[in-house]
Amino acid sequence: MSIIKTENICKSFGSVDVLKNVSLTVEPGEVVVIIGPSGAGKSTYLRSLNHLEKPTSGKIWIDDKLIEDRVNGHNQVKLPHKERAAILLEMGMVFQRFNLFPHKTALQNVMLAPMNVKGVPEKEAKEKAVKLLNQVGLGDKLDSYPAKLSGGQQQRVAIARALAMEPKMMLFDEPTSALDPELVGDVLNVMKELAEEGMTMLVVTHEMGFAREVADRVVFMYDGAILEEGSPKEIFTNPKHDRTRQFLQSVL
Ligand code: ADP
Ligand code: MG
Repeated sequence: MSIIKTENICKSFGSVDVLKNVSLTVEPGEVVVIIGPSGAGKSTYLRSLNHLEKPTSGKIWIDDKLIEDRVNGHNQVKLPHKERAAILLEMGMVFQRFNLFPHKTALQNVMLAPMNVKGVPEKEAKEKAVKLLNQVGLGDKLDSYPAKLSGGQQQRVAIARALAMEPKMMLFDEPTSALDPELVGDVLNVMKELAEEGMTMLVVTHEMGFAREVADRVVFMYDGAILEEGSPKEIFTNPKHDRTRQFLQSVL
């Protein structure tokens, strides 16, 4: 049983090979943290899972269902559009840039997708959004517009917005990298609580404290490939590769 599985994902932009046979499995309830230097292919990998990027080749299973089997950039798996859309909705995604709707309040930002995409009635969407915004510590900011919120608060709205779609798994791509240092902790705490509640999470971050404390498994990516993976203890105290050691020395 896996909730995310990829086999030999390759991605080239022109003649540049950005992903080289990336194979990874994430079990339900697992928190997997991907670390690695800038340009390693971490974002491209995450984006491939969520259909924002088309791999050149390789296979992707979401929730044990094969959704992509790409050969020369073409997907051999033919799924009805509705079915594919439903599977993609199982993945919530939070990016470095939060991209909230500027002319909508925090509450409206969180209510919107459930109403528009899932047809959830307004009253229900609102109740759920209030609950989620309370959960991320923003119960007193329901009617605030993004411009009136700090970066950390906006990112927590973005997390609540993703959770409002009731995803089975959450992907995070450097969710705290754009934040002032003093705002990072609140966002990481929300993520940690989510992990403790049993959410399956795949997280790209440079926050080694978070990786050490929250990850079940740490994956080190370098130059488009997974160089090694293991428990936080294994990776942080006894990395197998010099590259991993060098990277850790540069960030710790
Ligand atoms: P990371 O998230 O680990 O920093 P990325 O996945 O963003 O790495 O990028 C990996 C490599 O792919 C980089 O060398 C980047 O320049 C290249 N790349 C990413 N997106 C594109 C694109 N759309 N066109 C060309 N090259 C790209
Ligand atoms: Mg990136």
